[in-house]
Amino acid sequence: MNKRASQQTEGKKCPMCGQPGIKVIREDTIFGGVWVENVPFEYCQNCHERFCDLATAQQLEAIADNPAKFAKMIERPVAHVV
Ligand SMILES: [Zn+2]
Repeated sequence: MNKRASQQTEGKKCPMCGQPGIKVIREDTIFGGVWVENVPFEYCQNCHERFCDLATAQQLEAIADNPAKFAKMIERPVAHVV
């Protein structure tokens, strides 16, 4: 069994600063005007850049292209304090 196949972040270098130390995090983000929850990002602990891999980017694009298919509309009360 090759357990390392799914965890390739170990020793992976940051494309921005070239340092190792990439960590996978889950964050909410807004992409194409759609609020997307639990998106896996690779996060560089050195320069604090976030990246998403190709598969994730493609999923985000699919969601942004067709939000009615992937997203549910949530109505909630929003108030502003003036
Ligand atoms: Zn970096």
